[in-house]
Amino acid sequence: MTAPRRGKAPRHFADMSVDERKEAVTQLGQKPFRARQLSTHYFTHYTADAQSMTDLPVGIRDDLVEQLMPPLVNKIRTLEADQGATVKTLWRLFDGIKVESVLMRYPNRSTLCVSSQAGCGMACPFCATGQMGLTRNLSTAEIVEQVRQASLSLASGEIPGGPAQLNNLVFMGMGEPLANYKALMGAIRQFVAPQPDGFGLSARNITVSTVGLVPAMKKLAKEGLPLTLALSLHAPDDELRSELVPINTRWTVDEALDAAREYFEATGRRVSIEYALIKDMNDHAWRGDLLGEKLNSRGRGWVHVNPIPLNPTPGSIWTASDRDVEKEFVARLRNHGIPTTVRDTRGSDIDGACGQLAADEQ
Ligand code: SAH
Repeated sequence: MTAPRRGKAPRHFADMSVDERKEAVTQLGQKPFRARQLSTHYFTHYTADAQSMTDLPVGIRDDLVEQLMPPLVNKIRTLEADQGATVKTLWRLFDGIKVESVLMRYPNRSTLCVSSQAGCGMACPFCATGQMGLTRNLSTAEIVEQVRQASLSLASGEIPGGPAQLNNLVFMGMGEPLANYKALMGAIRQFVAPQPDGFGLSARNITVSTVGLVPAMKKLAKEGLPLTLALSLHAPDDELRSELVPINTRWTVDEALDAAREYFEATGRRVSIEYALIKDMNDHAWRGDLLGEKLNSRGRGWVHVNPIPLNPTPGSIWTASDRDVEKEFVARLRNHGIPTTVRDTRGSDIDGACGQLAADEQ
């Protein structure tokens, strides 16, 4: 194994705009149209393998790929659940740092849970990644490469069920995406650009999940993209939320909810409120009522709630709520007219479920 190196990730095709790609190809002594050929391989066929780029002359394809598509995100191993329909991949980055992503295939769609940072600085006490602290931000290409490789494994039929397309992306892997705003938006632009310039994914099918970094939420609302926003609330009152989501001491429940409502107004996209149900911590019926009231006081039809049964992390004293308590919490929200769906916890047996991504080598 290579020792961690410090510094910036080597430049990569997936960091570049269409013009920058042409320029990079030209600098390597090739005609600009080679950039589009490379884009087609990378964004339409999901390949960064020079061997398969048979429309490029043998003499130049190795050089172009070596210079512009260095292997930034390298598979260390995978763990499978649900007969192979859920796959967690551990990746090694150029400097030896590790991150994870999780691919979940359903009968009619597939979703990739991607990492935006190695570790996380938000320190939520119930989240495994939060316990690690922040190692570093991922670059745009390091985020894009997770998606490119998952798309390839689906398209090539590697995942049981026959060849398929990747439909949904959720920034619910390691890290706080809005704390790495520039690289995040760079990656999103590559996701939504039509093929072959990008992957041609629908912005609606990309979910950015945040602890509630209010200024960045406001900025995201102005990007002019109908991305889906998810706010990790986990408590409707500041006292408890400051314990569960420490950044709440900076931006309160009300400020985070106001920013979420503003996001809806700017984009027309219904916001999702995430609420990990933790036994005897935040699962009280009165908290369900209070949440319903706070959401309704900001209007109707703009939000839905996604309770998540807590996935206990190693060493944590907290567990998931009892089923009847969960049911009552959901009932309280629905009584307030709030659409509420409990999240399915795919991959919890491979520590692939929400909040469990810790890139633990064991
Ligand atoms: N930093 C972003 C993305 C984090 S992961 C955010 O906080 O939103 C996506 C979701 O999983 C978040 O709502 C997070 O709070 C939740 N989560 C973290 N640890 C969890 C756990 N142990 N059980 C259930 N959900 C968890």
